[in-house]
Amino acid sequence: MNKPLILVVEDDAPVRNLITTTLKTNDYRFLSAANGEAAILEASSHNPDIVLLDLGLPDMDGVQVIQKIRSWSNLPIIVISARSEDTDKIEALDAGADDYLTKPFSVEELLARLRVTQRRLSYMTAEMLAASSVFVNGKLRVDYAGGCAYLDGQELHLTPIEYKLLCLLSKNVGKVLTHTFITQNIWGRSWDNDVASLRVFMATLRKKLEQSPDSPEYIQTHIGIGYRMVRVD
Ligand code: CA
Repeated sequence: MNKPLILVVEDDAPVRNLITTTLKTNDYRFLSAANGEAAILEASSHNPDIVLLDLGLPDMDGVQVIQKIRSWSNLPIIVISARSEDTDKIEALDAGADDYLTKPFSVEELLARLRVTQRRLSYMTAEMLAASSVFVNGKLRVDYAGGCAYLDGQELHLTPIEYKLLCLLSKNVGKVLTHTFITQNIWGRSWDNDVASLRVFMATLRKKLEQSPDSPEYIQTHIGIGYRMVRVD
């Protein structure tokens, strides 16, 4: 496989250099852009595998860059933000970002996020090739066509909402889904009390799915943001 091509969008030169040096020493190819306009141009002309995008850019908001890229491409976008406010991350995720990294971050964290995204990409490709109607992750198996799910070969007795939730998370494995995204997909709306209901359904789903619901293996909680199903080996 070719070395993945990463587009690094960051106006802060020292941070940009740190990222590109890390990429170089870890066998990635890269392109870089210091503002939103250059980022959109690079993304459209070089078709990178993954975009690392700083949200605070001099010429436009990173969220606008996401919206622009999403108008023609589904390529994975990992948002890098110095802002610790959850609302920025949520806005970016809802605009179509796949994941986020909060500054300051370690080189290990950056590489881990890239690996997660690459795995997600390769699974997506494999699944599209196989046109698979069955999802397998660790001991979990979801049979979308049959409308049922199994853990370690045992059928899980899920309510319709729990099953819908499990399908939504598994079809987006590796991706952080915001509360709004989930409630809109499950109930077709997003009210404050829907987020409270979501917590309840998530708790009952986890009781059935996780060995120890307090340290979940399959579904991560992103406090104040949403949930992500992780790939389990
Ligand atoms: Ca910046």
